[in-house]
This record gives sequence, structure tokens and C-alpha cells, in this order.
Amino acid sequence: MKKIAVLTSGGDSQGMNSAIRAVVRTGIASGFEMVGIKRGYKGLMENDFITLDSRAVGDILYRGGTFLQSARSEEFKTEAGQSKAINNLKEAGIDYLVVIGGDGSYRGAAALQQQGIKTYGLPGTIDNDIPLTDYTIGFDTTLNVVTDAIGNLRDTMSSHERVSVIEVMGRSCGDIALHAGISSGVDAVIIPEMKWDIEEISKKLVQGFENGKTHSIVMVAEGAGKAEDIATIIKENTDLDTRATVLGHIQRGGTPSAFDRVFTSRMGYNVIELIEKDISGVALGMETNEITYHTFEEIFNHEDKVDKTLYKIFKDLV
Ligand code: ADP
Repeated sequence: MKKIAVLTSGGDSQGMNSAIRAVVRTGIASGFEMVGIKRGYKGLMENDFITLDSRAVGDILYRGGTFLQSARSEEFKTEAGQSKAINNLKEAGIDYLVVIGGDGSYRGAAALQQQGIKTYGLPGTIDNDIPLTDYTIGFDTTLNVVTDAIGNLRDTMSSHERVSVIEVMGRSCGDIALHAGISSGVDAVIIPEMKWDIEEISKKLVQGFENGKTHSIVMVAEGAGKAEDIATIIKENTDLDTRATVLGHIQRGGTPSAFDRVFTSRMGYNVIELIEKDISGVALGMETNEITYHTFEEIFNHEDKVDKTLYKIFKDLV
């Protein structure tokens, strides 16, 4: 019986559990033996392997986080670390490795592939910052978490006639801010990919209050600026009562959305199909509702661009 191992690596995201379950159950249904590796590449180097049967992935579909746990490892970036990992995989008789993680995890997976391990990537990150996939695992859930949090903030901001500057995750990618900005009807979105003008934003906020608004929300992606700094400038420019909120790790929590559960179930099915065809060194994604795959190199060489039409849609709707 051929063996498939699965691990989760880097920053966790909601839907990773659902992805593990899909890979494991589809693998078993297709006649593979399934192995779980605890704590990402760290556990891979430390031989922290567990056998996964169908029951082992019961009761996790609707849980956030990853029951295999995740870790970061500097050692794995070295040749010595990678040869430890490869020896462990060979000794355990593992034929295929599925890595659920973000860009860094993909780099590790590509390094293993180059050294003869048949490797597969699933895009596990809330940031939606992986090229050649419309969505990453957890992004949709995060949008729902952020949208709910903004709804709660709006209630109190409205009572006190305040401006709220909300900082969300996204170091180089403003997708959470832009999408949640649209879903929450905020007044301004500040993202790293687009130019922004704090004077213009300040003027618009003042106009809004003059026209009878009772509150305003400015959404900022962490890579574009700090909520506290932006709130201070707005306060100085407008004299409006302005407060900063950093949503932080709350964004990574919560039960995965129905979308993320279905998305990951589809990817589990498709990754086993690729394994059966012996196509490796690829990462899966979803493009225009099709599950697609690309080599790691293609993904590394492709720029993850912001959706400019969506940005325009936001601007038109404000
Ligand atoms: P994410 O996968 O969420 O982007 P990281 O960037 O922290 O998270 O990467 C997760 C892990 O992947 C790192 O701790 C490291 O072990 C491994 N990794 C990252 N970059 C490389 C690289 N260039 N080569 C090999 N392994 C890497």
C-alpha cells in the first residue's frame, strides 16, 4: 500500500482541519495509507508521525486551527535540516507529501520536490496572498470574522459618533481589508497595493459627518500602516473622535465557513487524483470555480496582484 503524509505549516488558518480530513478520507477511499506529521517541518525533522485512519479525522470538520498543529522552523531551511526530513520520510516509506501552508511552506515543499520527494501544496493562509488561486484556505472564514467584528464596533462607534480605524492582517496583500471593506461598507480602505491620501480621507470623513453620518470606519491592512498612527493623523486633521482597533489573531479563529469546508473538500479530492496520476511538484488552487494546479516554480514566478476592478467597485460604492 502506498503512503501519503500530510502536514500543516506556517501561520494556521481556519479550514486546515477540513483540508486534512478531505485529504485523509479521500486517500483512504482510494486505497492509500495515510500518515499525519505533527507541527509542520519541525515534526518532519523530529519524526513526529502518526497513523491517520478515518476516525482520527472525525469531529474536526467544523473546528478552526489545525489538530496536527503548525510550527515554523529555521533549521528546515538548511541543507542539514532537509536531509533529516528526507531520511525520515524514506524510513517511514512515505511516497507522497501534502503540505498545507502559505508561501514559505511552499518554498520548503519545492525544496523537497527538488530532492526527489513527491510533494503537493494546498494554500493554507488567511491572507489570500498566493498567486494563481482566487482563494486561499481560511480567507473566506476570516472575512466573515472581520465582518462580524466590524458590525460590533459599528454599534458603539455610532452611539458615540466616532471614527474607527481598524487594522486587519495582510503584510503585502490587502485582500482582507478590501473584501471586508466592501462587505462592511466602510468609508475608506488603505492597502499596500494602492496609493492613498490621508488628507483626502480626512476631508471625506468630515463631509460624511456634516451630511449626517453618525460614525465612520477606515480599514487598513497591516502592511500599509498602523491603525494607531492613522487614527492620530485623522484626529489632528479633523478633530473627530477617532479610535484605533487592531483585530489581530482573532482573525485566524472561528469555525470554518461553509465555503472553506467545501473548497477544502474539493481540493482533497483533486490532490489525491493528481497523486494517482503521479503528477507532483504542484500546488492546488481555485480559478473561476475550477480546482486547478500549477508547479511551485510557476507560482513563485507569478505576481499576486490586487483585483483593481474590485478596488474600483469599492470606490464607487462609498
Ligand atoms: P507560511 O507558510 O505561512 O508563509 P512561513 O513563511 O513561516 O509561513 O514558512 C513556514 C516554514 O516553511 C518555515 O518555518 C520554514 O521551515 C519553511 N520555509 C520557509 N521558507 C523556506 C525556504 N526558502 N526554503 C525552505 N523552507 C522554507
